[in-house]
Amino acid sequence: MSEPVLQVEGLRKAFGGVIAVDTVSFEVAAGRLFAIIGPNGAGKSTCFNMVGGQLLPDAGRVQLAGQDITGLPPRRIWRLGVGRTFQVAATFTAMTVVENVQMAFISHRRRLRALLPTARKLYRAEAMAVLERVGMADQAERQCGLLAYGDIKRVELAIALAHEPRLLLMDEPTAGMAPKERIALMALTADIVRERGISVLFTEHDMDVVFAHADTLLVLDRGRTVATGTPDAVRDNAEVQRIYLGG
Ligand code: ADP
Ligand code: MG
Repeated sequence: MSEPVLQVEGLRKAFGGVIAVDTVSFEVAAGRLFAIIGPNGAGKSTCFNMVGGQLLPDAGRVQLAGQDITGLPPRRIWRLGVGRTFQVAATFTAMTVVENVQMAFISHRRRLRALLPTARKLYRAEAMAVLERVGMADQAERQCGLLAYGDIKRVELAIALAHEPRLLLMDEPTAGMAPKERIALMALTADIVRERGISVLFTEHDMDVVFAHADTLLVLDRGRTVATGTPDAVRDNAEVQRIYLGG
């Protein structure tokens, strides 16, 4: 067994009197898709934000491939190989699709060189290859601001991949998309991360999508762990059924 990419131990966060995440522990194995599910307010986003560094835990520890990253600023965590896709569009709307992905490559590999006038030509081939993979090569020269919502999501995936993450955090990556589109985007994401050996921590409303793609699930309810395990084990859990059937 190889070392887990992500190890979360006893993570806890309260907002005033509300315990948003109550002593939660889990591990994401290398190259696996791990889903956190649970009703609204269960503490999913709070967990993501503590892993990504946007929120400081009250207690507990987050380790990335054995390195303690608890409380590091988001930028440091990102530099260590933790990518994120965001619910709000994070593309530069005045730039073209391919320029956005080139910028991501530049910032990942060259950092300050992005300011050079030659930046426009850098990493174009790499950017086009990623766009090809996410099905956006034919729209490479379009301005991002003119894209359909589902296509922006594909560009965001391409941008996340340009950062060559070892762990990708996806908090409701398909939010706001039509059911057919979200199934297609999640299937594409799962295919790509599996072929590249990227680990994923994600959450998603559509349970069919979660059960189809997650290797392991963690079910939260009001900050507490209700169940954890394979999709089959979680599906058969009586407490999970009670929560999801609203009993
Ligand atoms: P989920 O993503 O599962 O819907 P969240 O992690 O967003 O849940 O929220 C968990 C709980 O913490 C909820 O009760 C929510 O109202 C509360 N909460 C989340 N973020 C904040 C915040 N910044 N300030 C106060 N309360 C918050
Ligand atoms: Mg949330």
